[in-house]
Amino acid sequence: MQTIVVASGNKGKLREIAAIFRGHVVISMQEAGFTGDIEETGETFEENARIKARAVSRALHCTALADDSGLCVDALGGAPGVHSARFCGRHGDDAANNALLLERMRAVPDGQRGAYFESCVALCTADGLELTASGRTYGHILKEAAGEGGFGYDPLFWSDELQKSFGVASAEEKNAVSHRAKALAALAARCREAGV
Ligand code: IMP
Repeated sequence: MQTIVVASGNKGKLREIAAIFRGHVVISMQEAGFTGDIEETGETFEENARIKARAVSRALHCTALADDSGLCVDALGGAPGVHSARFCGRHGDDAANNALLLERMRAVPDGQRGAYFESCVALCTADGLELTASGRTYGHILKEAAGEGGFGYDPLFWSDELQKSFGVASAEEKNAVSHRAKALAALAARCREAGV
Protein backbone atom coordinates (compact mmCIF):
# COMPACT_ATOMS: atom_id res chain seq x y z
CA MET A 1 0.00 0.00 0.00
CA GLN A 2 1.31 3.41 -0.94
CA THR A 3 1.56 6.15 1.68
CA ILE A 4 0.19 9.64 0.97
CA VAL A 5 1.44 12.45 3.21
CA VAL A 6 -1.16 15.21 3.56
CA ALA A 7 0.22 18.76 3.73
CA SER A 8 -2.15 19.69 6.57
CA GLY A 9 -2.65 18.88 10.23
CA ASN A 10 -6.44 19.26 10.04
CA LYS A 11 -7.96 15.98 11.31
CA GLY A 12 -11.26 16.55 9.48
CA LYS A 13 -9.46 16.91 6.17
CA LEU A 14 -7.34 13.82 6.86
CA ARG A 15 -10.45 11.72 7.55
CA GLU A 16 -12.10 12.96 4.35
CA ILE A 17 -8.97 12.19 2.28
CA ALA A 18 -8.53 8.73 3.86
CA ALA A 19 -12.18 7.88 3.08
CA ILE A 20 -11.68 8.70 -0.61
CA PHE A 21 -8.12 7.28 -1.01
CA ARG A 22 -9.08 3.96 0.61
CA GLY A 23 -6.33 1.89 -1.05
CA HIS A 24 -3.61 4.13 0.47
CA VAL A 25 -2.19 4.83 3.92
CA VAL A 26 -2.98 8.50 4.63
CA ILE A 27 -0.90 10.35 7.26
CA SER A 28 -0.37 14.00 8.18
CA MET A 29 2.85 15.88 7.43
CA GLN A 30 3.48 16.12 11.18
CA GLU A 31 3.27 12.33 11.51
CA ALA A 32 5.66 12.06 8.56
CA GLY A 33 8.17 14.37 10.27
CA PHE A 34 7.74 17.56 8.23
CA THR A 35 8.52 20.56 10.44
CA GLY A 36 9.02 23.39 7.92
CA ASP A 37 6.84 26.44 7.28
CA ILE A 38 5.17 26.70 3.89
CA GLU A 39 4.41 30.18 2.54
CA GLU A 40 1.23 30.25 0.47
CA THR A 41 2.31 32.86 -2.05
CA GLY A 42 0.11 31.74 -4.96
CA GLU A 43 -2.62 33.86 -6.52
CA THR A 44 -4.92 30.91 -7.22
CA PHE A 45 -6.12 27.90 -5.26
CA GLU A 46 -4.24 25.64 -7.70
CA GLU A 47 -0.93 27.49 -7.25
CA ASN A 48 -1.20 27.29 -3.46
CA ALA A 49 -2.15 23.59 -3.51
CA ARG A 50 0.84 22.84 -5.77
CA ILE A 51 3.21 24.90 -3.55
CA LYS A 52 2.16 22.95 -0.44
CA ALA A 53 2.22 19.48 -2.03
CA ARG A 54 5.59 20.15 -3.71
CA ALA A 55 7.21 21.44 -0.51
CA VAL A 56 6.30 18.31 1.46
CA SER A 57 7.03 15.89 -1.42
CA ARG A 58 10.49 17.35 -2.01
CA ALA A 59 11.43 17.59 1.68
CA LEU A 60 10.42 14.00 2.50
CA HIS A 61 10.84 12.34 -0.97
CA CYS A 62 7.30 11.02 -0.72
CA THR A 63 3.90 11.28 -2.39
CA ALA A 64 2.24 14.36 -0.91
CA LEU A 65 -1.27 15.76 -1.24
CA ALA A 66 -2.42 19.31 -0.45
CA ASP A 67 -5.65 21.23 -0.80
CA ASP A 68 -6.35 24.93 -0.94
CA SER A 69 -9.85 26.28 -0.73
CA GLY A 70 -11.99 29.30 -0.10
CA LEU A 71 -15.25 31.16 -0.60
CA CYS A 72 -15.89 33.21 -3.77
CA VAL A 73 -18.76 35.72 -3.59
CA ASP A 74 -20.21 37.08 -6.86
CA ALA A 75 -21.18 40.50 -5.44
CA LEU A 76 -17.62 40.95 -4.08
CA GLY A 77 -15.93 40.18 -7.39
CA GLY A 78 -14.90 36.70 -6.20
CA ALA A 79 -13.54 37.84 -2.79
CA PRO A 80 -12.47 36.63 -0.30
CA GLY A 81 -11.17 33.84 -2.62
CA VAL A 82 -7.58 32.82 -1.88
CA HIS A 83 -7.63 35.27 1.05
CA SER A 84 -10.58 33.48 2.73
CA ALA A 85 -8.65 32.40 5.85
CA ARG A 86 -7.38 35.96 6.47
CA PHE A 87 -10.24 38.11 5.06
CA CYS A 88 -10.39 40.21 8.26
CA GLY A 89 -6.61 40.70 8.33
CA ARG A 90 -5.80 37.94 10.85
CA HIS A 91 -5.30 34.31 9.84
CA GLY A 92 -8.05 31.87 10.84
CA ASP A 93 -10.33 34.20 12.85
CA ASP A 94 -13.64 32.70 11.67
CA ALA A 95 -15.86 35.00 13.78
CA ALA A 96 -14.19 38.17 12.48
CA ASN A 97 -14.17 36.85 8.90
CA ASN A 98 -17.90 36.13 9.09
CA ALA A 99 -18.66 39.52 10.66
CA LEU A 100 -16.78 41.27 7.83
CA LEU A 101 -18.58 39.19 5.19
CA LEU A 102 -21.99 40.12 6.66
CA GLU A 103 -20.96 43.79 6.75
CA ARG A 104 -19.79 43.78 3.10
CA MET A 105 -22.99 42.00 2.00
CA ARG A 106 -25.41 44.16 4.02
CA ALA A 107 -26.69 46.21 1.07
CA VAL A 108 -26.68 43.34 -1.44
CA PRO A 109 -30.27 42.35 -2.33
CA ASP A 110 -31.70 38.84 -2.55
CA GLY A 111 -31.00 37.33 -5.95
CA GLN A 112 -27.51 38.89 -6.09
CA ARG A 113 -25.98 37.02 -3.14
CA GLY A 114 -24.63 34.05 -5.13
CA ALA A 115 -21.40 32.39 -3.97
CA TYR A 116 -19.45 29.18 -4.23
CA PHE A 117 -16.80 27.30 -2.31
CA GLU A 118 -13.89 26.08 -4.40
CA SER A 119 -11.20 23.56 -3.53
CA CYS A 120 -8.16 22.63 -5.54
CA VAL A 121 -6.17 19.53 -4.60
CA ALA A 122 -2.68 18.69 -5.81
CA LEU A 123 -0.70 15.48 -5.53
CA CYS A 124 3.07 15.32 -6.11
CA THR A 125 5.00 12.07 -6.26
CA ALA A 126 8.63 11.59 -5.21
CA ASP A 127 9.67 11.36 -8.88
CA GLY A 128 8.06 14.71 -9.73
CA LEU A 129 4.66 13.77 -11.22
CA GLU A 130 2.04 16.42 -10.37
CA LEU A 131 -1.72 15.89 -10.67
CA THR A 132 -4.41 18.42 -9.75
CA ALA A 133 -8.21 18.57 -9.66
CA SER A 134 -10.80 21.04 -8.42
CA GLY A 135 -14.37 21.06 -7.20
CA ARG A 136 -17.05 23.64 -6.48
CA THR A 137 -20.29 23.79 -4.55
CA TYR A 138 -22.79 26.59 -5.19
CA GLY A 139 -25.19 28.56 -3.03
CA HIS A 140 -25.71 32.03 -1.60
CA ILE A 141 -24.72 34.14 1.40
CA LEU A 142 -27.35 34.33 4.14
CA LYS A 143 -28.27 37.58 5.94
CA GLU A 144 -27.55 36.00 9.32
CA ALA A 145 -25.78 32.89 10.59
CA ALA A 146 -27.76 29.62 10.54
CA GLY A 147 -26.37 26.78 12.68
CA GLU A 148 -23.04 26.31 14.40
CA GLY A 149 -21.74 23.20 12.62
CA GLY A 150 -18.78 22.95 10.28
CA PHE A 151 -16.13 25.66 10.29
CA GLY A 152 -15.21 28.92 8.59
CA TYR A 153 -18.02 30.47 6.58
CA ASP A 154 -20.33 27.43 6.88
CA PRO A 155 -23.09 29.15 8.96
CA LEU A 156 -23.43 31.94 6.36
CA PHE A 157 -23.48 29.63 3.31
CA TRP A 158 -26.82 28.34 1.98
CA SER A 159 -26.14 25.22 -0.08
CA ASP A 160 -28.21 24.86 -3.26
CA GLU A 161 -27.57 21.11 -3.25
CA LEU A 162 -28.62 20.52 0.36
CA GLN A 163 -31.27 23.28 0.55
CA LYS A 164 -29.94 24.24 3.99
CA SER A 165 -26.95 26.12 5.43
CA PHE A 166 -23.66 24.24 5.82
CA GLY A 167 -23.82 25.33 9.48
CA VAL A 168 -26.98 23.26 9.95
CA ALA A 169 -25.91 20.28 7.82
CA SER A 170 -24.33 17.19 9.36
CA ALA A 171 -20.72 16.33 8.44
CA GLU A 172 -22.01 13.45 6.29
CA GLU A 173 -24.42 15.72 4.42
CA LYS A 174 -21.73 18.33 3.79
CA ASN A 175 -19.15 15.74 2.71
CA ALA A 176 -21.61 14.37 0.13
CA VAL A 177 -21.71 17.69 -1.78
CA SER A 178 -18.65 19.67 -0.68
CA HIS A 179 -16.13 21.32 -2.99
CA ARG A 180 -13.33 19.34 -1.30
CA ALA A 181 -15.08 15.96 -1.68
CA LYS A 182 -15.66 16.68 -5.38
CA ALA A 183 -12.05 17.74 -5.93
CA LEU A 184 -10.73 14.68 -4.07
CA ALA A 185 -12.95 12.29 -6.01
CA ALA A 186 -11.73 13.81 -9.31
CA LEU A 187 -8.10 13.59 -8.13
CA ALA A 188 -8.53 9.94 -7.07
CA ALA A 189 -9.83 9.15 -10.59
CA ARG A 190 -6.79 10.92 -12.16
CA CYS A 191 -4.46 8.96 -9.86
CA ARG A 192 -6.03 5.67 -10.95
CA GLU A 193 -5.62 6.66 -14.63
CA ALA A 194 -1.96 7.56 -13.99
CA GLY A 195 -1.34 4.37 -11.99
CA VAL A 196 -0.41 6.24 -8.81
P1 IMP B 1 -7.89 26.19 3.78
O1 IMP B 1 -7.72 25.90 2.34
O2 IMP B 1 -8.28 24.99 4.57
O3 IMP B 1 -6.75 26.97 4.36
O4 IMP B 1 -9.18 27.12 3.90
C1 IMP B 1 -9.13 28.47 3.61
C2 IMP B 1 -10.29 29.18 4.24
O5 IMP B 1 -11.41 29.08 3.36
C3 IMP B 1 -10.77 28.62 5.57
O6 IMP B 1 -10.06 29.21 6.63
C4 IMP B 1 -12.22 29.05 5.56
O7 IMP B 1 -12.33 30.38 5.96
C5 IMP B 1 -12.60 28.94 4.10
N1 IMP B 1 -13.16 27.62 3.78
C6 IMP B 1 -12.62 26.65 2.98
N2 IMP B 1 -13.41 25.56 2.91
C7 IMP B 1 -14.47 25.84 3.71
C8 IMP B 1 -15.63 25.09 4.08
O8 IMP B 1 -15.84 23.94 3.69
N3 IMP B 1 -16.48 25.71 4.91
C9 IMP B 1 -16.29 26.97 5.40
N4 IMP B 1 -15.22 27.70 5.11
C10 IMP B 1 -14.31 27.14 4.27
